[in-house]
Amino acid sequence: MGVKDYIFSKITRMPNSINYVLMKVNIFPSLVLGKHYIEYKYSIEKNSNADNHKKLINLINNALTHVKYYKEKYPKLQISSLEEFQAKIDFIDKDIVMQDVDAFISDDINFNDFIKGTTGGTSGKPLQLIIPKNRHIIELGTVHLYWEQYGYSFSPRAVLRNHKLKQKSFYINPISKEVIFDGFNLTDENFKIIYQTMKKYKIKFLQCYPSSGYAYAKYLKNNNLDTSFIKSFFVSSENILDYQKDFIKGLGIELFSLYGHSEKLVIGGYCPHHDYYHINPSYGYLELIDENNALINQPGVLGEIVGTTFNNYGMPLVRYRTGDYAEYIDINCECGFKGKTLKTIQGRWSGEKVYNKDGTYVTTTALNLHNELYSVIDGIQYIQKEKGQLEIHIVPGHQFNDQHGKEIIEHFQNKMNAGSTIIVQKVKALKKEDNGKFLLLISKITK
Ligand SMILES: [Zn+2]
Repeated sequence: MGVKDYIFSKITRMPNSINYVLMKVNIFPSLVLGKHYIEYKYSIEKNSNADNHKKLINLINNALTHVKYYKEKYPKLQISSLEEFQAKIDFIDKDIVMQDVDAFISDDINFNDFIKGTTGGTSGKPLQLIIPKNRHIIELGTVHLYWEQYGYSFSPRAVLRNHKLKQKSFYINPISKEVIFDGFNLTDENFKIIYQTMKKYKIKFLQCYPSSGYAYAKYLKNNNLDTSFIKSFFVSSENILDYQKDFIKGLGIELFSLYGHSEKLVIGGYCPHHDYYHINPSYGYLELIDENNALINQPGVLGEIVGTTFNNYGMPLVRYRTGDYAEYIDINCECGFKGKTLKTIQGRWSGEKVYNKDGTYVTTTALNLHNELYSVIDGIQYIQKEKGQLEIHIVPGHQFNDQHGKEIIEHFQNKMNAGSTIIVQKVKALKKEDNGKFLLLISKITK
């Protein structure tokens, strides 16, 4: 455990009343997040309309020099323009990278500057990644810029995501200024606690999944509660459905939706003027392609999102097909944004429901395993035939052992209600639908 994790694990165990005071006095993001965060955020703010082709060319040329996959595929090639990049560099996808992950790692990095991650299990087979250690500077700098358009200013925010709480009904992290609630307890009792806490501490922002935000909004409306102090919900990690959006906004609450993915190649988010995704031009390079791998440049044509990192020189994924789909929209936005803007995004994200016996549910997004467990399996799939029961199919990797099997059962027992039946089954392959499509959750529950 690093020093930061240690402090975090200790501090969140302190009484909420003390942490509330600490959170109130913590008004300087630079002290907490460091001066590089401030510098980065300032630099992308100033650079908001740039197309950043230079960053793209630098990244690909470095990869062509130092990364085995690119060196072997394109011997002696160097790229000098966007046109040349698009003409000469092929697309890759997760399957290609997984055939030889090491071939995508640069020979010119210090491994101490990187941490391991995975893509998570949404598409069944998690991909191992290495990510720069200081990545949070870019992630937080970028996300905070989006949030600031909704009035966020290193403000306290409520979080209703993938935390399962045991001892307290909520806890406060005074460093990140998060008031964290149990994202697995989507009941009126828990919503009452969330509401009363937000009201008491005057918390204007809630970070949640579209599904949990919607469930909470339903509670607010059903109980005729005053929501005038709640400014915005910040949602991500699931496809957002129109009825969820309309319902939340109907309460006078603004909704910000963020698009991102664990490969960290492109990022986009709403602005207060339109429910479209402005793609941050400093973060990575976005392209859309059709089913024949041809570039889409015109609005209104659905295509797959292809991303290229600007920042991960350790494991540069270039023209990587994300499996997410979107179309461009041509707008002259009132917020002044000039870059690429996407209309609704159909993500690999899923927010499908796994039911407890009593009809309450958790979403597949919230069921995500820790990276350490994803790193020992080659695939995961959920099958639910009846409420309160969950069958988990695992394709075990080389390092998988019985202890991992136990940890996986424990993980799901903790996340579902007590008394739920969890069955873990080792399989050779995951099930595909008749049309070849993979579903993370195969559910027989019709509600
Ligand atoms: Zn805008």
